[in-house]
Amino acid sequence: MVKTIFFYLDGVGYKFLEEMPFLKNLGEEGTLCRVSVEPLHQMEFSIFASQEQKDLNLWTWYYHNPKSSPYSWTKIIPCFFDNNFFRKIINYSTVLKEYLKGNSHFLPISKIPLRFLRNFDLTSKKSFIDKNPIEIPTFFDILRGRGISYYAYEWPIYSTELKTGLRIVKKDDSCFLEEILKHKEKDFLFAHLTVFDGLLHKFGSENKIIRNYLRKLDRNIEKVCNGLLKEYPDLKIFVVSDHGMVNVREGVDITNSVKNLDIVYFADSTCLRAWGGKKEIEKLRKDLEKFPGKIYTNKNKEKCPISFKRNYSGDLLFIVEPGFEIFPNFFNNSKLIKAMHGYDKTSELDALFVHNYKITNKKKIPTFGICPLVFKSLKIPAPLE
Ligand SMILES: [Zn+2]
Repeated sequence: MVKTIFFYLDGVGYKFLEEMPFLKNLGEEGTLCRVSVEPLHQMEFSIFASQEQKDLNLWTWYYHNPKSSPYSWTKIIPCFFDNNFFRKIINYSTVLKEYLKGNSHFLPISKIPLRFLRNFDLTSKKSFIDKNPIEIPTFFDILRGRGISYYAYEWPIYSTELKTGLRIVKKDDSCFLEEILKHKEKDFLFAHLTVFDGLLHKFGSENKIIRNYLRKLDRNIEKVCNGLLKEYPDLKIFVVSDHGMVNVREGVDITNSVKNLDIVYFADSTCLRAWGGKKEIEKLRKDLEKFPGKIYTNKNKEKCPISFKRNYSGDLLFIVEPGFEIFPNFFNNSKLIKAMHGYDKTSELDALFVHNYKITNKKKIPTFGICPLVFKSLKIPAPLE
């Protein structure tokens, strides 16, 4: 019987609570916290590993490791074959190869140029809901260790205390919820609701579509909770989001800055990392100074908001100011995005934590403080205890 349900909302920043009357009310009668988001947040592990992501080197999806790269074989493809057809083949064959190896975290190669792809490996090969995905126990590992049965869904992967597998349903939050509700025999249900994140990137926070979607999401959550509460009145409800977003005003075009340099680089939407010799890196550093943002190299690495480790941060790390997007980048080269996350720390990105019981007086917690609160409510010793 379902005793706990955990809604993991992607991209629903704290400020959106105003558009979600059910959630707001639930939090005001129980627990409602603002959640400060870690710098350069990209990965779910910042929440589910209950440890700062910079210490786990999990703040980025890709890191520099040509030896272990699942794409190392692509070096046999001449660079002039860098077209959509070949990229599809690389994507599908790598996903298949990784899946057969038992991995569950699949990232499309997006727009990473073929000449660089062979240098990069994924920081995590398994989905955060999978069994032992990283070196320390995650939230789900601890549930499993405590004998709590669960069904977790993160498209297209499901995971239970017994196994992890592929379950492809329509990419729609209502379908994700329907999917977990088929497993009411479990103690704990979890769904990662990802649709809103995509809408916010596409439309920005001022668009009517955003407000309408938040209301729909709120009603959906209310319906699921009310249904479960009828069957189990002591149901524990958690609604957690991972980050908000900042509307993007302008693009930062680094094309000319990296041109003609003998470096390997990775252009994310909010940061640029470069690997190369001292002279080349210094040239790049000087040129990037004209853009809004901060540049970190070995010389000022102590000030860097994440651990400055060459494989992860590069020899140079450039982080744009909130409200800007490195454009074009390796994930988007068609149209400037309307809203983005993954900046250095800013309260504009604050996320939310809502629970239907009062468990803390704190008004603000960090992302890595979320799961310890859930464990407290479920009376499970927290991971670090
Ligand atoms: Zn996003």
